[in-house]
Amino acid sequence: MSLSQLAKSINESPTLKLNETAALLKDKGEPVIHLGGGEPKSKAPIDAIVSCTALLRTGDVKYTPADGIPALKKAIIRYTEEHYDRLVPPENVIASSGAKQSIMVLLHAILDPQEQVVYPVPYWVSYPEMVKIAGGVPIAVTAADGGFQPTVDEMAQAMGPNTKAVILNSPNNPSGVIYSDEFVAGVMELCERRNLYLIMDDTYNRLIFDGRTPTNCYRFSKDLNVDSSKLVVINCVSKMYAMTGFRIGWTVGAKDLIRAMTNIQSQETSGPAAPSQWAAVGALTGVQSSIESLRLTLENNRNIMMTRLEAFNGIKTVKPGGTFYCFPDFSAYEKDSQKLSRFLLDKVRVVTVPGKEFGMEGHLRLSYCGTPKEVTEGIERIKWALDPTAPNELYLGNRKIVRDWQ
Ligand code: PMP
Repeated sequence: MSLSQLAKSINESPTLKLNETAALLKDKGEPVIHLGGGEPKSKAPIDAIVSCTALLRTGDVKYTPADGIPALKKAIIRYTEEHYDRLVPPENVIASSGAKQSIMVLLHAILDPQEQVVYPVPYWVSYPEMVKIAGGVPIAVTAADGGFQPTVDEMAQAMGPNTKAVILNSPNNPSGVIYSDEFVAGVMELCERRNLYLIMDDTYNRLIFDGRTPTNCYRFSKDLNVDSSKLVVINCVSKMYAMTGFRIGWTVGAKDLIRAMTNIQSQETSGPAAPSQWAAVGALTGVQSSIESLRLTLENNRNIMMTRLEAFNGIKTVKPGGTFYCFPDFSAYEKDSQKLSRFLLDKVRVVTVPGKEFGMEGHLRLSYCGTPKEVTEGIERIKWALDPTAPNELYLGNRKIVRDWQ
């Protein structure tokens, strides 16, 4: 078949593929534990459902403006004022079909062929492929100390004349790490000095633990005029309201940039689905207690996972400050993360995501967005599979597994 060079160079999303694999195995009755998930288990807020169904009941579901309905933009403006202390006009806001589309349209709007986008390792799986789709060159920056946050100097060293933008995702998928204020301020200073876009992917900004407050990136910017600033902030309803299936994300940035993104989006997909936009309006303007209740659930799950992992000899873990991911180093057991992930799925039916997909070998991404029971049992199964001194047999549900490996 004749396919484009681009199509041949783009990999399937490994996380979405794993979801499919887990669902297929579950359908066959396999006792799968999904520690590879990327979405909270809770339901969408009732205000989202009421607002969405109010539109559906009219039967009048039509195209919307390409950058989103005025009510959603108004709700996003209120959100930005409340959580970022920035009051922006509607011309500085565009709603898209999920943060994924927000980032994709943004990259199309700023990148010329071969321009580079720099981001730290570990990184969200989609960044490299998205940059490539937009014709750019992804540049991942690995910390020399093996940690989850490079230094500002390391970021600077990765930049050259072709660098156009930096992406920071904090708290971070997959590590759960919240970048330090010094790091964000340093990267901001670097971007302002070099006239680069700084894309803050704040998808998990509200899901943080240990009494911390979300980082407000605008605080570090010297440029108070949003229209001359190259700071671009991405958010979505997907994770904080557990509304992944609605597909609503948004971008706040300079007017000219938002206009360019709107032109691209208007040709690519038009505005996001109208029922989803109304659902997002409901979520953003309704009762906000679901975010805190999700946050508390996740913090509790994080604690359960940490306790279990700390009792696991040979594994190095950094305590996640937010998200619902943890990114332990399993290299003492197996350096090839894809091999390890496959082994755990084959032998003990636990789904994990190989660290290689996030730019860091030897690690596995483990999600704690499931139930405490899933977290506990998932880690116990992994431990059993990897510990040669463990008893020879394990029950998965009512199925007995006998160790046939060392
Ligand atoms: N950014 C990050 C860091 C993510 O983890 C995700 C979703 N996994 C997205 C963006 C995309 O979010 P959405 O579902 O709204 O497209």
